[in-house]
Amino acid sequence: MSDYGHELRFGSFLTPSVHDPDQVVALAELTETAGLDLVTFQDHPYNAEFLDTWTLLSWVAARTERLRISGNVLSLPLRPPAVLARAAASLDRLSHGRFELGLGAGAFWDGIEGMGARRLTAGQGVAALREAIDLLRGVWDDTVDGPLRLDGEYYPVPGMQRGPKPAHDIDIWLGAYQPKMLALTGQKANGWLPTLEYLRSPDRVTANRLIDEAAVAAGREPREIRRLLNLFKVDVSSRSRGFLQGPVEQWVDQLLPLVLEEGFSTFLIGRDDPRLIQTLGQEIAPALREAVAKERAGGEAGTGPVRTTVALAARHPGLDYDALPASLATRSVEPGDPEYERVRHTYSWHGSPALVIRPQNAAEVVDAVSYARSQKVPLSVRSGGHGISGRSTNDGGVVIDMSRMNRVEVLDRATRRVRLEPGARWGDVAQALAPYGLAMSSGDYGDVGVGGLATTAGVGYLARKHGLTIDHVVAAEIVTADGRLLRVDDEQHPDLFWAVRGAGGNFGVVTALELEAYEVDNVVYAQLVADATDTAQLLRRWGQLVEDAPRELTSFLSLFPGRRGNPPAAQVTLVYAGDDVEAAQSALSPFLEIGPILDQQAQLVPYPAIVVPPGNQHRGQGLKDTRSGLLHHVTPQAADLMEHMIHSGDVMIMQLRSVGGAVNDVARDATAYPHREQNFSVLAATVPDRRPQLDKLWAELYAHLDGLYLSFESDTDPARLLDAWPEPTLGRLRAIKATYDPDNVFNRNFPIPPAGPVD
Ligand SMILES: Cc1cc2nc3c(=O)[nH]c(=O)nc-3n(C[C@H](O)[C@H](O)[C@H](O)COP(=O)(O)OP(=O)(O)OC[C@H]3O[C@@H](n4cnc5c(N)ncnc54)[C@H](O)[C@@H]3O)c2cc1C
Repeated sequence: MSDYGHELRFGSFLTPSVHDPDQVVALAELTETAGLDLVTFQDHPYNAEFLDTWTLLSWVAARTERLRISGNVLSLPLRPPAVLARAAASLDRLSHGRFELGLGAGAFWDGIEGMGARRLTAGQGVAALREAIDLLRGVWDDTVDGPLRLDGEYYPVPGMQRGPKPAHDIDIWLGAYQPKMLALTGQKANGWLPTLEYLRSPDRVTANRLIDEAAVAAGREPREIRRLLNLFKVDVSSRSRGFLQGPVEQWVDQLLPLVLEEGFSTFLIGRDDPRLIQTLGQEIAPALREAVAKERAGGEAGTGPVRTTVALAARHPGLDYDALPASLATRSVEPGDPEYERVRHTYSWHGSPALVIRPQNAAEVVDAVSYARSQKVPLSVRSGGHGISGRSTNDGGVVIDMSRMNRVEVLDRATRRVRLEPGARWGDVAQALAPYGLAMSSGDYGDVGVGGLATTAGVGYLARKHGLTIDHVVAAEIVTADGRLLRVDDEQHPDLFWAVRGAGGNFGVVTALELEAYEVDNVVYAQLVADATDTAQLLRRWGQLVEDAPRELTSFLSLFPGRRGNPPAAQVTLVYAGDDVEAAQSALSPFLEIGPILDQQAQLVPYPAIVVPPGNQHRGQGLKDTRSGLLHHVTPQAADLMEHMIHSGDVMIMQLRSVGGAVNDVARDATAYPHREQNFSVLAATVPDRRPQLDKLWAELYAHLDGLYLSFESDTDPARLLDAWPEPTLGRLRAIKATYDPDNVFNRNFPIPPAGPVD
């Protein structure tokens, strides 16, 4: 008999009566406004008196904002699991992670058979449910490549596409009473969902024991299984003083042992009674929470996240997990946790960190930095996970993952002041600013995070008109290596503020940035595909046209080697910052002369449309061997060398991006990005086994380059520091590093050695 330490949840279990659908929905809405956590509906598809449960769940999800929703329980024989998996994931995505799956093996077999499904014995029903759970989880698992195949007896799957992935890890709760079902609950489910009235107290104790034993035998922790309970015969106005038949205090007294001695943590009342729903939310739930908290305060029940025995075994020996502050216990993901696969890698790098901490506010970042420093392991900081130079994952270390701090706020429309948290993606920033008629140029890829990009430069689609992203940063909040949370701007810690704009990853964890956005609505977005057989000529013409173009025009050019008998190709993106279509046309049309055009299109679109986040799962899939340089002009010699590169077949992609324009209006020493005379950024990328060839080719181009953009460079040779920050910038950065991070805690992105006493 034990308390499993789960946080308490309360909800309703409503009758999906077909006769008054509005009343059903109103009770669901009341469940939310009363402050409850969960609304559930029974599922009897053979009963014509009931609304179809799935349709009702979808409707209620759309009418509520916070409530979790679940069938209680869905009838598996009439909900084929392959379709159910997709429906569940879809509803979970539509409701932003609020769907949970209550599931049963089937009851009322006459009705089920009458609808054409096969009648199963109790044993067969359990076996079918076991297969269904594997199928559901297999469909939702996007960490496995290839189709899902299951050799099931009841639900064979010869080969189906996986996905969609739900918005969160959907819980599977089983309505179970018999030993085999209880064992299955312990082996595979996330929750047990019986009805109190069907189980006497000794039966509940036995059932809990069977679940626990099955869990342990399956290598799980009994705490992994939440215990939920439906309560039907309940009342607050009754004077009978029977079980849950009396005032609030009596409820609290009677529910308390169910929590502390029997481990139940979710209570669902099966009465369509608005007054009772309200009382549960406003009086009973808070009172029981308080009573339980008081009892637990001195007790032994763990209240942190539930970690499986398998997860505990997967912990890294080099990290003291018990030293993690309580504030971060529910924020961390360990190897072996279900979410680990999703947080271990980044877009370009594979990793196997010992711990990923996902703080939700600056105070938690302070705790995370101080914990990480106490451990002698690598520390990575991650925002969007698109770092190329920045290694925002590691092996055996700690990752502070800022993805949950992702708010975008317009602080003042008049001054165009906006506040961005680092975990926001640039595509989301564009979406959030657009209703205010504001934008902030970032890059070409909406999935890139604010934290990494806005601390190095930000070479975006509006660069020539509006400059780099960092040029608009007016203040930053940063947690430094000594655990201080500082606000830095032109007045406060101006040296650190300077360093954050170009070398931010070396100085701490940025928890927020304030920027001055600018007014942009629509832009003209054009794409050309050109035959790049004569690569050098195409590059020269493009380079000259870019330099001659009005500042409204920014262009990115990607070169791909010829494959399978096709010539090399160039994809040119042209963005005109404004909706003057005629002016855009005259700026764009000269580019039709850069070479033989194979395809072209242009459209007037809102700015967010050109930075839509693709929302990829990060698996280290990006090209990680990249070289970066900056060019003043696309000279004939540089163009010839770049042609040689792309024709060699050893380079997978080259990209040239226009900088120049407003980027070069900023003084060289105004920020820690000192490259204010160049007009182009050049990047070449390849696969690992061609890296030596790339280096050889790059060495030839190097003489024509002047500096590099560190966010596009994966070479870790310290000699490249001077390319990123030519003197006096590097010297100034080293001195500031010695003040704010003398122990070089933040050393995973072009690490700057702190200036020493002899420097
Ligand atoms: C597909 C792709 C497209 C890109 N396109 C562009 C582009 O168009 N223009 C452009 O300028 N760049 C572009 N980049 C480069 C990109 O700007 C950098 O890689 C940037 O670091 C990514 O930011 P992130 O937050 O997603 O990265 P992360 O991987 O999360 O972080 C990278 C590094 O930034 C630092 N960092 C991250 N968060 C913080 C924080 N909160 N505080 C302090 N330091 C932090 C850390 O050192 C970290 O290692 C692109 C990269 C990719 C992979």
